[in-house]
Amino acid sequence: MSTPPEPMPLPFSWADQEQHLVGHLSALIRLNTSNPPGNEIAVARHLSRELSRSGIAHTVLESEPGRANLVARLPGSGQKPPLMLLSHADVVGAGPEGWSRPPFSGEVADGRVWGRGALDMKGQVAASLLVMQLLAAHRFRLTRDVLMVVTADEEAGSRLGAYWLWENHRGLVEAELAFNEGGGQRFMTPGGPVYTVQVAEKGSARMRVTARGPGGHASVPRAQSAVFTLAEALLRLRAFAPESVLHPASRRMLGTLADLHPGAGAEAIGRLLEEPTWAGANGLPIDPVLREFVVAGLHNTATPTMLAAGHRQNVVPVEASVVLDGRLLPGELPDRWVEEVQRAAGDRVEVSLLHGRVSHAGHDDPEILRVLGDTVAAHEPGARVLPYINPAATDARAFPDTKVVGFFPSASDADIMRLIHAPDEHARISDLMFGGKCLLDAVLRFST
Ligand SMILES: [Zn+2]
Repeated sequence: MSTPPEPMPLPFSWADQEQHLVGHLSALIRLNTSNPPGNEIAVARHLSRELSRSGIAHTVLESEPGRANLVARLPGSGQKPPLMLLSHADVVGAGPEGWSRPPFSGEVADGRVWGRGALDMKGQVAASLLVMQLLAAHRFRLTRDVLMVVTADEEAGSRLGAYWLWENHRGLVEAELAFNEGGGQRFMTPGGPVYTVQVAEKGSARMRVTARGPGGHASVPRAQSAVFTLAEALLRLRAFAPESVLHPASRRMLGTLADLHPGAGAEAIGRLLEEPTWAGANGLPIDPVLREFVVAGLHNTATPTMLAAGHRQNVVPVEASVVLDGRLLPGELPDRWVEEVQRAAGDRVEVSLLHGRVSHAGHDDPEILRVLGDTVAAHEPGARVLPYINPAATDARAFPDTKVVGFFPSASDADIMRLIHAPDEHARISDLMFGGKCLLDAVLRFST
């Protein structure tokens, strides 16, 4: 019989850190780093002052004026290769509509910190800073260097941030393991609480579907037109059941989900593991958000986003088009997916690739997952981790040689993640504290 995991011992009280963590996040939110234009230098300067006060070596690197990346390093004995705390300084923009408090107020009220970036991802920036400061102040003996890397430009493709660092300053950001955004959502299941851990993420294939037809005066009705042809293609795409692909990370995810859903759930998951299908994934009797992760983790997808047709109310347009936001499982090729979508949409429209990116394989390291599992169980008895393929992209895309894990556990249920990129974004202080505590604990497990 094994004993339940215990938190790593600390020479200070974690509860005393709350004012620091909240203060860091509130200050970071007040620095408007909406991308575009980014202006991440504001965050880099702020972090630089904090790190200097703690005597932590760091450097600020601008890819373009104002587009700053920061790399800090706490030296370890070098027994193991470095561990990186990875985060991004930019946020998506925020119009004033829908906010009950100004989006860059950083206000602390009702047990929450309010503002753009509270969840994505200045909360984790603040926690990473605090972890670095605590490691330095209490002179933990580290078996490896611990890096804090805060990037620019994640929200617009990472070109001026993570990719730029990797291409221009590789020696500074090489690490074996990185803790990043993209994980930590909590779900309650029949078998207990579970926290997601990103171990891979999807690539992309943006496409345009174009229909053409006869134009003319709109007073004469026509059975055939570009708009009707496009509409028919869209209906075919809605009914399209793409082929399933079982990536090792999804296999592991489904195995964990089967343990957590005894009975009908486990049976349905068992059938899906034997013969993965679109219908089987969409019919799983589990939490709907978890089910979405399963569906996205087994399939390439193509979601219509932008429609375009016509320039006058009384003219039948000769062309109509829609942009599809396609997402690809690790290793899947954009061109091949375009061919499949073309077959699904039918030969009366033309599907062309606008932009594609292959996602690297991610990893499937059972030892990392075991340690992260112990970490969450030490802070919430019975909790487990759930490895998954993030349907969206993060800075992990720029670090092919690092085992990047999305790990910043949030103690309230995953519903709060709906506020990411939305009005009234805020973080609960209790969630921040839980995430910070788990992050520090995990760093200590891997580095002391
Ligand atoms: Zn983010």
